[in-house]
Amino acid sequence: MAAGIAVAVAPKLVKPVLAGAAFLGLALGTALMGVTGAMSNSQPGPIEVEDIPEDFMAAYRTSAERFEFGADGWSYLAAIGKVESDHGRLQAPGVRSGQNNHGCCAGPMQIHNGYGSGGGTWAAYKTDGDGDGGTDIYQPADAVATAANYLRASGAPADWRRAIFAYNHADWYVDKVVAQAAVYRDAATANTPITGPNVPTTLVPATGDWLADVPGMPGERCDRRIVADVVMLIRAFGVRVTDCHGGAPHAIDGEHPLGLATDLVPSDGDWSRTMRLARAYGWEPSCASSGCDGRGPFRVVLYNGFPGHGDPSSTSSPHLHLSWAHAPATPFTRARWVRVLTPAPIAP
Ligand SMILES: [Zn+2]
Repeated sequence: MAAGIAVAVAPKLVKPVLAGAAFLGLALGTALMGVTGAMSNSQPGPIEVEDIPEDFMAAYRTSAERFEFGADGWSYLAAIGKVESDHGRLQAPGVRSGQNNHGCCAGPMQIHNGYGSGGGTWAAYKTDGDGDGGTDIYQPADAVATAANYLRASGAPADWRRAIFAYNHADWYVDKVVAQAAVYRDAATANTPITGPNVPTTLVPATGDWLADVPGMPGERCDRRIVADVVMLIRAFGVRVTDCHGGAPHAIDGEHPLGLATDLVPSDGDWSRTMRLARAYGWEPSCASSGCDGRGPFRVVLYNGFPGHGDPSSTSSPHLHLSWAHAPATPFTRARWVRVLTPAPIAP
């Protein structure tokens, strides 16, 4: 039995996994552009990841469905395509023509074709991915379908690690593909409005002006996309804003410099309502000291137990901090997208 498809991947054939950079390239789904109100969260949108060319994404999704890989299946195919050839973009022998530097393998999925003889894994598993009646190892749909066919025979989707190990017999390779698949799933999720178990949210792209005044809070400005949320919190929980957009003493790599965090105190000194607000969006004692992952649109909730935050019994600078989830952004710039509870109308 022939070993895996790509017997080994030469380091120079492998582009580093773009952990951070790939996130910076997140695209908002086109359905979001120009949104002026609440979006339906009930229908899953198309999966879009900016790093993945359309023809490759179509091939990954089509093959994942064909081989019944489940909802996450596309991400593993995409991760292999990324690691093997950067979705066909890698300028290296054997990606678009000829054989790779080992001589064994070819195409965007680097499938073993018996050193160019048309044998090997290719002969055993080749699959017409686009229904054109032929199979071409350099053609994305055929290459991806063939890879999927081989992965299915090797244990996917029940055991992805086993299947990926069969694809390339190296633990580092399995780890790398699994990690890249998770990156892609995260990116796709960020591009797709989701309905969480608790709080429906909406992604809002960057359009119009960046900062806007918070009504009733003189001198306080936030990224305009969260102002409607802030107003809702003020009204619902009886709080006022002590800071939103700003630099020091706030963390430079946090959300205040982006205008995507608020510091809140009770408008009448009743901290029990502020505690209720903190708990409503994810604060609890077990995560308090490290900062709690927020529910809904909130990236983090800092309150009692986190240094410098909490009610007056916890700190000399009492306040509740809420940060909104957003695209990676340089301090003092506007994030490309932000997740919100209450989408505000966007100026043209
Ligand atoms: Zn804060």
